[in-house]
Amino acid sequence: MIKIDNMSLEEIKEFLKSLGEESYRGEQIYKWIFSRGVDNFEDMTDISKSLRGKLSDCSEFTKIEILEKIESRKDGSIKALFSFEDGEKIETVVLKDGNRNTLCISTQVGCRMGCSFCSTAKIGFKRDLTSAEILKQVIVMNRLLEEKGDKVTNIVYMGMGEPLDNIENVMRSLSILTDENGLGFSHRKVTVSTSGRVDNIDKIFSLKKPVNLAVSLNATTDSTRSEIMPVNRKFGIAELVGKLRELPLQKRKRITIEYVMLRGINDTIDDAKRIIHIVKGLPVKINLILYNPTIDSIYKPSTEESALKFQKYLTDRNFTVFIRKSYGSDIDGACGQLYAKYKKM
Ligand code: SAH
Ligand code: SF4
Repeated sequence: MIKIDNMSLEEIKEFLKSLGEESYRGEQIYKWIFSRGVDNFEDMTDISKSLRGKLSDCSEFTKIEILEKIESRKDGSIKALFSFEDGEKIETVVLKDGNRNTLCISTQVGCRMGCSFCSTAKIGFKRDLTSAEILKQVIVMNRLLEEKGDKVTNIVYMGMGEPLDNIENVMRSLSILTDENGLGFSHRKVTVSTSGRVDNIDKIFSLKKPVNLAVSLNATTDSTRSEIMPVNRKFGIAELVGKLRELPLQKRKRITIEYVMLRGINDTIDDAKRIIHIVKGLPVKINLILYNPTIDSIYKPSTEESALKFQKYLTDRNFTVFIRKSYGSDIDGACGQLYAKYKKM
């Protein structure tokens, strides 16, 4: 049966037409699904009973269930393990930081990219998420926050999976997410993170409302990067930044460079020097991420001292550099970790 919540507005209108209905009905249904978050036809009160019946005879909604929910006692961050109809599971996290509630969503079950420090990589690749499965994470988590009088303020595509490896569904979800008749989320508050799928980066910029881009650099030489991020064997650092330089960035828009600090691997002052050379001329802000050791990890997080030194070297040279706090460390903040634990139980 066809999933109505996997369709774009145009597709829903076409679908309605194929049922012999006026296409403006499609607009009404689209709003019910994405603007109001309704997941059944009965609740669509301005749609006739007979049409509701027709629709439920030939289409249905994507189901998603929260299997486990953990709330951080330290900072109020919430982590949820979701299960889909086929039993596959993914994680979604809300990271709380002052007034900011950043939702970190997944795009795939597992990941193909095989980064050696990442627990999602250890799952291997199971499957892509559909656009509805991506958006459901937003709808469900926002509802959880609304129950507490709060809401999601920022969305990052930084959970399990490589967003640009599931480009079609990710693009569809981004269009609906930022459409005022869809989820109505400001595109300025949405960020897609990639490990460097150079071949798909410009697609993000072809959106009507382009979202922010984050790139996980994580190393400053091709040999180290290829060792920890196999994607670098295909698209090396020069090719990656070459692509970034070509992007049609809007005024004042900056690319976020993510850099997971691994002790003794990528955290020396020589690395900081090389970063400057790599991002020369690019409008960037740099996020140094404290490594969250995974189960059986061979890596250690950098010491606070070396992270601060690294940061200072760059800020002294006029770069904007944040050290990302280990949010929700008591709830296994890093993606893929709750999943890994669940598998062991
Ligand atoms: N696949 C995309 C988005 C998901 S990973 C990407 O790689 O960019 C999101 C971020 O988490 C990446 O910057 C990645 O380098 C980082 N990351 C992965 N495992 C981590 C861990 N154990 N501790 C800290 N950061 C981690
Ligand atoms: Fe995939 Fe990103 Fe993890 Fe690499 S860091 S394995 S690209 S999720």
